[in-house]
Amino acid sequence: MKLSFENELKQSYQQLFEQFKHSRETAQPSCGLQEIGTVKSVSAGVAIVDGLPGAGFEELLLFPGNIHGIAFNIDEHEIGVIMLGDYSLLNAGDEVLRTGRVMDVAVGNDLIGRVIDPIGRALDGKGQIFSTQRMPIERPAPAIMARSPVTEPLQTGLKVLDALLPIGRGQRELIMGDRQTGKTSIAIDTILNQKGKDVICVYCAIGQKAASVAKILATLKLHNAFDYTVVMVTEGNDPPGLDYIAPYAATTIGEFFMSSGKDVLIVYDDLTQHARSYRELSLLLRRPPGREAFPGDIFYLHSRLLERSTHLNDENGGGSLTALPIIETEEQNMSAYIPTNLISITDGQIYLSPTLFALGVLPAVDVGKSVSRVGGKAQRAGFRKVSGALKLAYAQFEELESFARFGARLDANSLLTIEHGQRIRACLKQAESRPLPVAAQIVILLTLTNGLFDTISLSSINEAQTAVVAGLASLSPPIVACLEQADSLTDDNKQQVLNMVKTVLQPFMLTDPQLPLKTQPISAGTHE
Ligand code: ATP
Ligand code: MG
Repeated sequence: MKLSFENELKQSYQQLFEQFKHSRETAQPSCGLQEIGTVKSVSAGVAIVDGLPGAGFEELLLFPGNIHGIAFNIDEHEIGVIMLGDYSLLNAGDEVLRTGRVMDVAVGNDLIGRVIDPIGRALDGKGQIFSTQRMPIERPAPAIMARSPVTEPLQTGLKVLDALLPIGRGQRELIMGDRQTGKTSIAIDTILNQKGKDVICVYCAIGQKAASVAKILATLKLHNAFDYTVVMVTEGNDPPGLDYIAPYAATTIGEFFMSSGKDVLIVYDDLTQHARSYRELSLLLRRPPGREAFPGDIFYLHSRLLERSTHLNDENGGGSLTALPIIETEEQNMSAYIPTNLISITDGQIYLSPTLFALGVLPAVDVGKSVSRVGGKAQRAGFRKVSGALKLAYAQFEELESFARFGARLDANSLLTIEHGQRIRACLKQAESRPLPVAAQIVILLTLTNGLFDTISLSSINEAQTAVVAGLASLSPPIVACLEQADSLTDDNKQQVLNMVKTVLQPFMLTDPQLPLKTQPISAGTHE
């Protein structure tokens, strides 16, 4: 039964192939499209084809069984082709046809809420995607004159990022860290936080395990994030050619929304796998290997991808494409080949430390090794006012903490810095899939920098934070609006917020005055 079905399928593909061949023969006889090539050899994701002298670089070729390939190595007598489908069905001697076009992908609003592969096939069982528009997967990046500076923040909903490492719309911020340090979680939380903010999200999973993808899809579904998200997936057992084209195809989908004036967030999870697949293809195509066996154009592979993320100026619709590329480091080696390439291409990196992860400081962002180069300009005044003092106090704490580990006797001031720092760390912790709204974040950060958490024991910080956020409801509407917009508070309004905080924190205050906690705020926290 199964065999006859397969035979039928093969026959119908063969018919399609013959039809396509016939149409090529009758149309435009002078352009060389009627050429018929032959498969010389086929193996692990690449095929060698001869007999297509007119084929161009990156032209899409059609093989029997409706399998496509990209002409990648154009040599004098043969072509090295990257296969995009199940090449195990092909044999030496099979016919190959030119299509006369480059690889393209369906774009449009119909893609929102769907899970697709880089060729545009639906993977979610919700039927075929009908889109009238297609765009090439490789497109030139917008010109400098078409771009405008990054000025609008993209809120991640994570306190540690929004306060200390802000990301702007149109920025490219790398997320890096060893395996299992929470890289994907940060990106997914950022997607969840875009709910109701008129941002379209594109999540591109490259060569991941099916189980990991299923977990991510379930999280997105649970939080209704599919209303504004497109997911592109290639799995570990797909041909490496699909991994190679996936981020470009996803970017084209993002660019479609950006060109219609929308703000778009794109996550590439992860580019290490992408680079590995490209290395595999390059080695199979006998391109000369360079450092770490990567081919010479590996930098170009990622730079041409990430250059496409930008903030367009008003004449070009004013849309933006913010990129969060993810990369896996090995043994915390940030200076390996691919990580350094990406650090130099992007506008900053979020470094996740396995040590912090092991200590339970989640998200495990190592603030000292992370940087956001253009995001600070886009950060709202409300955040900016608290972030300076916070950064300073946290840096002082981290320095003292390593020192204090050796059992050094510290003076009272240093002890205070440590106590304050521990509370900052506790407040910057955040559970997965729980992005915080802006007003809640700012009120917590204000409480923190004014030293009001310093009189509360570390074990009750979480409940104290919840109480402070609940206290927002008792503030007057103009103050709440100001907090929601992350605008600067007037001194008077700020005092009202702090009064509210003091009242709600009363039940949590330490009753034992012995302990290291002092009632007066420490100096680093009094800046604002
Ligand atoms: P991989 O290298 O396998 O891709 P990763 O670096 O993407 O891993 P995640 O899959 O995001 O890491 O997270 C690793 C584990 O840590 C998961 O089990 C996740 O549930 C947990 N985790 C991540 N962030 C948090 C958090 N803020 N709170 C609690 N658990 C978290
Ligand atoms: Mg991951």
